[in-house]
Amino acid sequence: MSIKENIIQFQKEIPDKVTLVAVSKTKPISDLQEAYDSGQRIFGENKVQEMSEKWEQLPKDIQWHMIGHVQTNKVKQMVEYVSLIHSADRLKLFKEINKQAAQVDRTIDVLLQVKIAQEESKYGMPIQEATALLDGNQLDNYPNVRVVGLMGMASFTDDTNQVDTEFKMLESLFIRFRESKNLKILSMGMSGDYELAIENGSTMIRVGSAIFGSRK
Ligand SMILES: *Cc1c(COP(=O)(O)O)cnc(C)c1O
Repeated sequence: MSIKENIIQFQKEIPDKVTLVAVSKTKPISDLQEAYDSGQRIFGENKVQEMSEKWEQLPKDIQWHMIGHVQTNKVKQMVEYVSLIHSADRLKLFKEINKQAAQVDRTIDVLLQVKIAQEESKYGMPIQEATALLDGNQLDNYPNVRVVGLMGMASFTDDTNQVDTEFKMLESLFIRFRESKNLKILSMGMSGDYELAIENGSTMIRVGSAIFGSRK
């Protein structure tokens, strides 16, 4: 199937309340342009440099989502245009986003990335720490950062029960703080597990290979 057919298929298949982020990391501009021409306006990238290069070359009504681990020294590069940062996972990063956002007179929407996978390698704030952060008022120190939701990545495994348990953990954290913190977005689900994520309340799925084909 072509990129265009995949996009149309996804838009038909997913519920209205779920937003599709087309994860275009490593893919050439021509692939993104094809998705754009099929109506896709939200793209996810995991490297700041690559996202900035694509932002420069593509139409300006695209919303760019940073979904990968962000080094603090890279924040400045994207602060002018980034639409949503899914991977805000530590206070040092909140502090830097706040500082750079203030410099350009913006308030930047972010998702608190929470570690739900059992694997050691996955980024994200441990769930206890995230709970404490949302419970307290520390986030008020960063007026130019707006936490609009939560993001999580499940373990990379065939064990559906494991993935289901991890998604449920994040959903319950989301529900717990939805009203008090005005959370709108629950970003969970990728090509391999988006259906299960949607069953567990996901409002935003990040899909790469199922749209653009496998990456090298
Ligand atoms: C690459 C990536 C995705 C998309 O992965 P696919 O399996 O290709 O859909 C989603 N989220 C994050 C954080 C990623 O790095």
